[in-house]
Amino acid sequence: MSLDPRINDELAAWDRDHLLHPTTHTANHARGDVPGRIVTGGEGVYIEDRDGKRYLDAFAALYCVNAGYGRTEIADAISEQAHKLAFFHSFAGQGNEPAIRLAKMIMDRAPDHMARVYFGLSGSDANETNVKLAWQYNVLRGKPEKRKIISRWRAYHGSGIVSGSMTGLQSYHARFHLPLDGFLHTHSPQYLRRPDADMSEADFVNWLIGDLEAMIEREGPDTICAFIGEPAMGTGGIMPPPESYWGRVQEVLERHDILLIADEVVTGFGRSGQMFGSETYDLKPDFMTIAKGLTSAYAPLSGSIISQRVFDVLMQGTDDFGPLAHGWTYSAHPVSAAAGIATLNLIDDMGLVENARAMGPVFQEALKDAMDGHPNVAEVRGVGLMAAVEFAADPATRDWFAPMTVGPKIAEAMTQRGVIARAMPEANTVGFAPPLCITPDEITIVAQTLRAAADEVLSQ
Ligand SMILES: *Cc1c(COP(=O)(O)O)cnc(C)c1O
Repeated sequence: MSLDPRINDELAAWDRDHLLHPTTHTANHARGDVPGRIVTGGEGVYIEDRDGKRYLDAFAALYCVNAGYGRTEIADAISEQAHKLAFFHSFAGQGNEPAIRLAKMIMDRAPDHMARVYFGLSGSDANETNVKLAWQYNVLRGKPEKRKIISRWRAYHGSGIVSGSMTGLQSYHARFHLPLDGFLHTHSPQYLRRPDADMSEADFVNWLIGDLEAMIEREGPDTICAFIGEPAMGTGGIMPPPESYWGRVQEVLERHDILLIADEVVTGFGRSGQMFGSETYDLKPDFMTIAKGLTSAYAPLSGSIISQRVFDVLMQGTDDFGPLAHGWTYSAHPVSAAAGIATLNLIDDMGLVENARAMGPVFQEALKDAMDGHPNVAEVRGVGLMAAVEFAADPATRDWFAPMTVGPKIAEAMTQRGVIARAMPEANTVGFAPPLCITPDEITIVAQTLRAAADEVLSQ
């Protein structure tokens, strides 16, 4: 599928001259200092670039192409819907068949206490929706001052103004006037980076909970609206929390009448080995944010799933004050919804949740075997089909490399060898989140490529 070399040269020049890329070193790209990659096709876990080079994509693009590349079932559903009805809006109770069918499919899969799903276009906008609805819930209950949101350092909740405020990565705040007032961050539950090497995991959780309680007391419980968290952190470094963490957090939130938003954008639809991360970690959220895996990224679509108790208050609010004035033009877009239906059917037909559950331990074992005895491996961790290897200069003395020094080099050395992994921000962590259809043989290739890349980079 390689392109004519002349078109290739032209595309690269147009790319440098016209396209402002997301999360990119803009100057290097515009100068052509770093080679970009122009992707032209894909099949299963593999993508192919314009020069005809194939890569095993062990990050499913941005942990989103969960069903794998080249699925004609999803492409056909998109095409059929676009021919039949590309768009009509959903304001004022208007509807379209795919959005209604998809809502039913999502609610059939969601925890029993959830009541409705609102559709958006991206994980970021779904989190904005969740915050707005949580605010309105408290205003309607006569508690307008209960509006602060607690998030965590190293969280990723998107890069909008509210969602970027909740994201806990410095680079998403700096020079953007973020976070907004009223968006607080507590510690991330990463045991590896506990403040004191001698702390047991139980002590560490006590320390986290003590800090959360102190923050709530300091701010005043009557000012805190919601706590947002990814069931297992993704972009911050792929970090499953300690065993007792979520139970303890939920106890604190309940005691202070604080809502829980479970950001399931990565964990939703099988990634953690269950349909939702909320099942894996026994969460009872008031809001669930879904996006990425919902359509396997074949079309943009997100959702805010809201609980019965929140829905009841919002519904009464419209009887008292009139329509809920929140809506994107493209909410419940029929073409995206058709992609969602086809994706959820494919997840069932291919047994992708079961495969993620079965392959998760295989993946972690393969990484551990491949990295066995490597002096710079601080931790191999993961849950379901999300995994990471964190590197340190000397793991025994917790002597970390300077952030983003060796991690990006190892990921790059893997790419040179035909496997795509992701260097996670603010550390030296190589992350993996392959399509959920990955096989043991493909897992072996990924793990061995990581070892070869790490040996090359760290022997220098
Ligand atoms: C990617 C991501 C988002 C943001 O989704 P976008 O579609 O990029 O706006 C939100 N939350 C989590 C956990 C994510 O990984």
